[in-house]
Amino acid sequence: MRIQIDLQLCQGHGVCVEEAPEVFRVVSAPGRYDHAELIVAEPDESLRKQVEAAVKFCPNRSLKIVD
Ligand code: SF4
Repeated sequence: MRIQIDLQLCQGHGVCVEEAPEVFRVVSAPGRYDHAELIVAEPDESLRKQVEAAVKFCPNRSLKIVD
């Protein structure tokens, strides 16, 4: 599974981390909003439900499953 994070939209709320802590983390970015980052480049299919929840509940609609 491949995931895109739109860093123009992401503001580091961390909802994605709450939904899928094995997949996302929030990192600091001096001079701009904190933002999400993938812990694993291509998460295993077993994590799809959690990733779908992260996509659904991201308040900025920054996440997309692309594959
Ligand atoms: S929930 Fe959305 S806006 Fe918040 S850190 Fe995750 S991707 Fe970024």
